[in-house]
Amino acid sequence: MKVQILGNNSGGLFIKRHFSAQVVQLEGRRYLIDCGEGTQMQIVKYKVKFERIHHIFISHLHGDHVLGLVGLISSFTMRLRKAPLDVYGPDGLKRFLEVQFELCSVRLSFEVRVHIVSCTQSALLVDDDMIEISTIPLKHRVPAVGYLFRSKPAKLLNLRPDVVPAYGLSIEQIKAAKAGQDVFDANGTLIAPDLLTLPIKPTVAYAYCSDTAYSEKVVESVRGVDLLYHEATFLEKARARATETGHSTAVDAANVAQKAGVKRLILGHLSGRYDDWELHLAEARPIFAETYGTEEGENYEL
Ligand SMILES: [Zn+2]
Ligand SMILES: [Zn+2]
Repeated sequence: MKVQILGNNSGGLFIKRHFSAQVVQLEGRRYLIDCGEGTQMQIVKYKVKFERIHHIFISHLHGDHVLGLVGLISSFTMRLRKAPLDVYGPDGLKRFLEVQFELCSVRLSFEVRVHIVSCTQSALLVDDDMIEISTIPLKHRVPAVGYLFRSKPAKLLNLRPDVVPAYGLSIEQIKAAKAGQDVFDANGTLIAPDLLTLPIKPTVAYAYCSDTAYSEKVVESVRGVDLLYHEATFLEKARARATETGHSTAVDAANVAQKAGVKRLILGHLSGRYDDWELHLAEARPIFAETYGTEEGENYEL
């Protein structure tokens, strides 16, 4: 699994950063989380494959997380998309889309399926052969949810490079090796399975939490994940502002990571009043050493 940041700025305008949006990649799939204004330009800039996006997860209806959605969907239509699109988000999302589609005369070339999610109780949204995606209730000024992505173990193993010619494997033998079954050479001797196939990739978990104030519920929801994206809009000096606006400081984000025992924390949703992450990292790392500031375009591997 890989996460690419398309935007990590908070609501205020800032020349160097874009509004919230990111792409979770798993094999050939692309899951878009949040869609702030300008997201489609970022998708083009970073060469994210439009047609591979079948799910969009919206955290809440503040403009910096959702104002790019109708533009993106309109562009899908201009490209004559046929595949349905599942969009998840809090109450109001359906009306938000319908009003704009109507007033802007957007004639969809495909089905947009809106799924309204609860912002008070966690729910499983996607459960298929490769991934489970569920919600994380957040604590913000308006109803908001984060999203938790958990990969599942692959059903088939991958062959090591060049083993097919090296052992002269037949189609049946390839199928057996991929299924984890014994494979024998021409003399009837067992070929050690680890000579044929690569080790199974461990399952991984990624949590996206933005926007939110510090929340014990979030700590419970993200326990033990491999990678946590947590908003850290402000520094401690602006604690009062963070409380007033339902946001976190770098210390809040680090406390969540530390208490939840996550492996790595990446900070996002930086206020336009800050140029970079330097001061945030100085406040967060004494609490949780594995803290990093996100950068636009950057990929984070799990
Ligand atoms: Zn925001
Ligand atoms: Zn917000």
